[in-house]
Amino acid sequence: MGKITGFLEYKREVETYDKVKNRLKNYKEFTVSMDEKALQNQGARCMDCGIPFCHSGCPLGNLIPDFNDNVYKGKWKEAAKILHATNNFPEFTGRLCPAPCEEACVLGINEDPVTIENIEKNIIEIAFKEGWITAQIPEHRTGKSVAIIGSGPSGLSAAQQLNRAGHHVTVFERDKKVGGLLRYGIPDFKLEKQIIDRRVAILEEEGITFKTNAHVGKNVSVEILKNEFDAIVLCGGATVRRPIPIKGAHLKGVHQAMDFLKQSNQRVDGQTKFEEVILAKNKNVIVIGGGDTGSDCIGTSNRQGAKTVTNFEILSKPSIGRAATQPWPYWPMRLRTSSSHKEGAERYFSISTKEFIGDKNEKLIGLITVEVEWIFKNGERPQLKELPNTEKHWNCDLVFLALGFMGPETTLIEQLGLETDFRTNIKASTHNYMTNISGVFAAGDIRRGQSLIVWAISEGRQAAHHVDSYLMGQSYLPLKDDNDLPRV
Ligand SMILES: Cc1cc2nc3c(=O)[nH]c(=O)nc-3n(C[C@H](O)[C@H](O)[C@H](O)COP(=O)(O)OP(=O)(O)OC[C@H]3O[C@@H](n4cnc5c(N)ncnc54)[C@H](O)[C@@H]3O)c2cc1C
Ligand code: SF4
Repeated sequence: MGKITGFLEYKREVETYDKVKNRLKNYKEFTVSMDEKALQNQGARCMDCGIPFCHSGCPLGNLIPDFNDNVYKGKWKEAAKILHATNNFPEFTGRLCPAPCEEACVLGINEDPVTIENIEKNIIEIAFKEGWITAQIPEHRTGKSVAIIGSGPSGLSAAQQLNRAGHHVTVFERDKKVGGLLRYGIPDFKLEKQIIDRRVAILEEEGITFKTNAHVGKNVSVEILKNEFDAIVLCGGATVRRPIPIKGAHLKGVHQAMDFLKQSNQRVDGQTKFEEVILAKNKNVIVIGGGDTGSDCIGTSNRQGAKTVTNFEILSKPSIGRAATQPWPYWPMRLRTSSSHKEGAERYFSISTKEFIGDKNEKLIGLITVEVEWIFKNGERPQLKELPNTEKHWNCDLVFLALGFMGPETTLIEQLGLETDFRTNIKASTHNYMTNISGVFAAGDIRRGQSLIVWAISEGRQAAHHVDSYLMGQSYLPLKDDNDLPRV
């Protein structure tokens, strides 16, 4: 443990943000860096608890007190080594993770928790700046080959692990560029895309082959992959968007959030031609859905110059603090206000959209809502009750549907004859991540449903261990909760 009295001496401090009026002028990240001394003080707040609950709060099992201690002592290179022992891409999680570890931090019981996520981001950024993050090219090749389908965080972490074990790894990605939702879902103001390019360049140097514009099941035959590769890992995400089956959903101006976000990310990347242009400039925008995707639509609409931005959430407004039913160290469903919310959006909870209204040209001009109440009865699914006389008309020109995702696409499931679970995700147990087809594995959102980047990286790492075992009879690739194994 670094400083025994650190948590008594220093208050929690995190990076601040550039002013709203400045940051809305562009799509760049807008956090203001802290100096190294201030970060070391934050590391000193870690109490190195006997049982560090943050370990189990983190889906990767990051060795948090160990890197905090090294940060406190200014040993950044050592901290980076510890961080990489469990996390292939801390530059993604350090920016984007909702940090369940911080909710499980023991200091958080009666004080503000340690700023684990911000420390993580700074460790990796210092490591890149100092040139410590270099390609680790395997000394020996096994002669085995693995095809990974999908280049999101699960595909990238599986690829890096399997390449380090000496296998020839090829990643097939249907999009023009690598990264999955990191590239085409999450806006640049949360993750500038050169952060992905910087890491992908290292993966390529390590020996991983990336094939883009390669849509497996469409322009790349999955049968050929089965014959040419010794194992296949499916990392295609859970991309089927939830529709809203109400009157007027077909109107011009009603869009799925991902169509809007993908186009905006492509525009920021320099693309100028689109089949249908979706732009929020001078528009009254309503975003339906109060999660991460909805929040990204708000931030993007404000950057595009929307006239107004309104956000609806069908669930009731959560409490600001922890509810008694979600005690420490569990992840609490509390009210989360993102930097995008703070940039300007009217938020409404317990509200349900009943109908979209169009003009004679089928162009969206408004919508109708009702207020709702959730009825909870022991042992039953919560029931939604519409409140009488609460109907309201809203004017709007654009609606973005950020209602979540229903599961993976079916093309590969059908072509390979894969079994799915009751939620339509690909069935592959955490015991070995293998599907019902021998040699075909699944990881990330395609297996667990739409989730988090930290989970996708974790799944990719776990699956890689089992693929390696399948190919070699045993594996030295680390497994979570298996910290005694030699790390590769
Ligand atoms: C708008 C948005 C914002 C989010 N923000 C956050 C956040 O702030 N923090 C967080 O932790 N999580 C966030 N998430 C969730 C997170 O992005 C996902 O959980 C994570 O990206 C899942 O990783 P994955 O590798 O399983 O799949 P994905 O990232 O979805 O990647 C799947 C890849 O597979 C490719 N693919 C699919 N089928 C094929 C095929 N047949 N052939 C070739 N390629 C194929 C796709 O094109 C895609 O590139 C967000 C999600 C969305 C939609
Ligand atoms: S990856 Fe997320 S949960 Fe894990 S230590 Fe980092 S911020 Fe915490």
